[in-house]
Amino acid sequence: MEEHNSEEENQPEGLPIPEIFLNSDTKSPITNCVQCDYDLLSGGRYYVIEKVFKKYPSFQKTEILFEYAVCSKCYENMRGQLSKESMENLAAYMATKTDVQALQTRMALYPDQPEEWLSHCMIKGTPKSELTEFQMGACFKGDRLMTNYMPPFMIGGLALEEMNALLSQQTKDEMDDFMGDNFGIPPELRKDLILI
Ligand SMILES: [Zn+2]
Repeated sequence: MEEHNSEEENQPEGLPIPEIFLNSDTKSPITNCVQCDYDLLSGGRYYVIEKVFKKYPSFQKTEILFEYAVCSKCYENMRGQLSKESMENLAAYMATKTDVQALQTRMALYPDQPEEWLSHCMIKGTPKSELTEFQMGACFKGDRLMTNYMPPFMIGGLALEEMNALLSQQTKDEMDDFMGDNFGIPPELRKDLILI
């Protein structure tokens, strides 16, 4: 992935927001931070969008369990409140288990089609079509997808289970609180989302 670090005003950084990261109801960009209501499209802060999908084979339908955007300020706050040990465990897992080469190959093949980068679990390499549960996330600024901090990711159910097992009980409780406060999601569903 080539990096553009130029300051040129007339050449916007990043890529347009892929359709998969739009608000699934309105099909427009997600406009506000889930925690502080910050106006994300003002472009002042980076933000992260995460979505959790579940496929019900009997209905041949993929449903979005939840989706949210959180601004960089709230994201830092949130991560700062999670146990350091759990976050280090997660970071180590991602650093050692991600199939970086496969991801880079997809990015090189489809430089302008980020949805193609999300075709396989970034950890296990499982094709999306074979997953019944997966989580996606990416970093944005204004109406642009940014890749300078992290590329968009897709993680399947098996890897999510392994990641969940790395979290301390304290961290799981804190994530439960975050999900409950922001989405009214009960703890038994929270295991489907890892705050990355
Ligand atoms: Zn915020």
